[in-house]
Amino acid sequence: MSPSNPAASLLAVAGLHKSFGANQVLKGIDFTVHAGEVVALIGPSGSGKTTALRCLNGLEIPDAGTVAFAGGPEVSFSAGFKPKKAQILRQRSAMVFQGHHLFPHLSVLQNVTVGPLEVQKRPRAEVMEQATALLARVGLADKAQAYPNSLSGGQQQRVGIVRALMLKPDLLLFDEPTSALDPELVGEVLVVIKELAQEGWSMVLVTHELAFARDVADTVVFMDGGVVVETGPASQVLAAPQNPRTQAFVQRLL
Ligand code: ADP
Repeated sequence: MSPSNPAASLLAVAGLHKSFGANQVLKGIDFTVHAGEVVALIGPSGSGKTTALRCLNGLEIPDAGTVAFAGGPEVSFSAGFKPKKAQILRQRSAMVFQGHHLFPHLSVLQNVTVGPLEVQKRPRAEVMEQATALLARVGLADKAQAYPNSLSGGQQQRVGIVRALMLKPDLLLFDEPTSALDPELVGEVLVVIKELAQEGWSMVLVTHELAFARDVADTVVFMDGGVVVETGPASQVLAAPQNPRTQAFVQRLL
């Protein structure tokens, strides 16, 4: 995206529907992410946040709806959609999972370089230089040769963030990035995410950390029962929500 046009839309999501068997999980989800914007998806457990996030990069294939990145073709989902056609979305975004998603038999350096080398087929020297810089950036320069099981949960999650950054995505997706961590390790991961937000990365975060959402998100999307109930500036949705369902949720957690 052009830095001279910070309000340009990077991602447009419209009418996402998704069922698992008889369980209708997404009932028409719409939202937009602007370049440089941090969007937090919040809402009760089971409201469909993670499913919506996974639909953005084709980890779940919606039954209906459209997902479009700026400068790319609109991906339109319908019955019989060929999952391979969602590949185009995966080239634009990278997901940071809840945890335990590193390859246990690969070192930290191998974990973060395997995608760029094997999938993106980028030159080795460039990939190694980028990995070294990014590991240093998240305070893990001395862990490049370590294996995941020798790292703390917070360190593993920072490796997961580096692995996503290595792909040079336009959009970072975070699925409850701290929910698997012991409380004392949450802060070190949130600090890295906040710094990335301040650097101008565009991101969509599923989080139950409402104080963190208030701190870093520009926009909050409140979901309940598979629909977007309320969306708006984080300061407004979290401090003065309009919808009674949002009010009840926010009051309970903030
Ligand atoms: P949230 O992130 O808001 O907690 P989820 O998107 O994880 O919500 O889940 C919403 C609903 O979808 C839940 O009822 C969950 O059991 C169901 N669900 C999610 N993923 C799957 C799946 N792969 N197969 C079957 N049901 C699923």
